[in-house]
Amino acid sequence: MSETVQTEDKAEHVQVAPGNYVIRTRSYSLNSGLVIGKQKAMVIDTGAGPRQARQIYKAVRSLTKLPLVVVNTHSHFDHIFGNAFFADNGVHDFYAHRNCAHDMAETASLQREQVAETEPEMAEGTGEHTRIRVPTKPVDTEVTVNLGDMPVKLFYLGRGHTDGDLLVGTPSTLFAGDLVEQGANPAFEDSYPRDWVETLRKISGLRHEYDVLVPGHGQTVSDAFVRSMWETMSLAVRMGEQASRDTPADTTKAIPILPYGPLQSRALLTRLKQAPR
Ligand SMILES: [Zn+2]
Repeated sequence: MSETVQTEDKAEHVQVAPGNYVIRTRSYSLNSGLVIGKQKAMVIDTGAGPRQARQIYKAVRSLTKLPLVVVNTHSHFDHIFGNAFFADNGVHDFYAHRNCAHDMAETASLQREQVAETEPEMAEGTGEHTRIRVPTKPVDTEVTVNLGDMPVKLFYLGRGHTDGDLLVGTPSTLFAGDLVEQGANPAFEDSYPRDWVETLRKISGLRHEYDVLVPGHGQTVSDAFVRSMWETMSLAVRMGEQASRDTPADTTKAIPILPYGPLQSRALLTRLKQAPR
């Protein structure tokens, strides 16, 4: 929609609407968000550790000097491990869904090993900005944060990619976290697949409220993309359930026919078995 500006260290930012930016960093093809009001600015998702957080922060500071608040869309490492860097740079308010904050407090340190290659200090838990910074502002269903002539709604539509996915809606733009993912299969590891189908339907229902939809990874998408993701997942869930009726001892026989790659198909089948209805 607008020109792409390359900043140093590979972070780039794209203005998707007035005051609304996507900050793309190469690690994990992560989309962070930046929303700038008259008094404050909001950063959405902080990266997988201090290295990525520094890139995001630099891009943010090239666009605004206002005080910052942070939102974590969910509790996966690539969205939360940069929190300490932002805290150490003066951020006090960290918003997240209550389940996300709880999950971070309980299990975030177990995710450290996943960033061994991209963020070795974070993986080791040594050095600056590597502690786990748990959100201070838990959200249950909905809260509006006014950044000054820029109301931002943080809201929960139900379980999906995790049990604590928070959506961020500005007057123009919906930041959907990993509930919507472009360029890769949906990640089912911590998911609730049946609920996720329903949550995608609700996101599609919001199509007239926002001009732009920013997924957690990849390019901005249209409602057609969300509908297609929803329909594909709905089909996959039905196929997985059929497989558990046909071959309850070994549902993995369904992997070749599911509409995802083998890894994510396996994760989907596992979660269909584990996740309570
Ligand atoms: Zn995720």
